[in-house]
Amino acid sequence: MENFEHKQASVERIVGNASSESKEAFFNTLESASREQNVHNEMYREHEVEKTSEQIVLFDLALKSVNQLRVQRGMPPLDWTSDNLHIFKPFRIEEKGIPNHDGIFLTNEQQVWIERSDLSNLGDIKKMTHELLHAAGYNALQSDYVPELDVNLINTYRSGLYMQERFNEEMRAEGRKPQAYFRNWNEAVIESLTKQLCKEYKHPLLSQDRHDLESEIAAALEYPRHERSTRDELDDLAYVFGDVFFGGGNC
Ligand SMILES: [Zn+2]
Repeated sequence: MENFEHKQASVERIVGNASSESKEAFFNTLESASREQNVHNEMYREHEVEKTSEQIVLFDLALKSVNQLRVQRGMPPLDWTSDNLHIFKPFRIEEKGIPNHDGIFLTNEQQVWIERSDLSNLGDIKKMTHELLHAAGYNALQSDYVPELDVNLINTYRSGLYMQERFNEEMRAEGRKPQAYFRNWNEAVIESLTKQLCKEYKHPLLSQDRHDLESEIAAALEYPRHERSTRDELDDLAYVFGDVFFGGGNC
């Protein structure tokens, strides 16, 4: 197993039978992607919009807060800037083969994309926080060398709590795709952390929305008891699984 001292790439580790040199080379590719921010976006460029100065301030606030969660768990802060954020007018992100989302984190591109929220700054920072947490959780890739093809196959191994089975020769021979595990669990923990951070954000840009949010919460308290307990359980998720989400554990 390789463990790299990274600076800008949101990937902690690359596992697999590829050589140390090729893993390091891929790591360098991720670092340049993070710095340059212009790979693979061409198809979607027409949908991308310029970030507003408010969105840049909100992203910096979200990044700082998400990084605090990493640092609290002994992880280095993610050395990103608002350049890693890309804002799009609403379009079908699912064109890229990903289910329709209002945001995504792209590992190879080292970018987070969000659909601009027409409703509020709080809507924007919520989406930014959610996608940043995907980037800031423990991320590991698998890179396996296939001698017959003389290529290294790169795939996800861990992303937060989400895991993908390690691929092997048998799987390749059968043409079987690796199994994916814990996707929904990972999303639930991210939502829980997002909710927690959004409650803590203090910024003049959010004060109007905060007032609206408080009324929303007050209304939510009128919900029947079983709905409230689901909400409490969501908070517990962040508390119980936060360490594994950021720290990786031993796998
Ligand atoms: Zn998500």
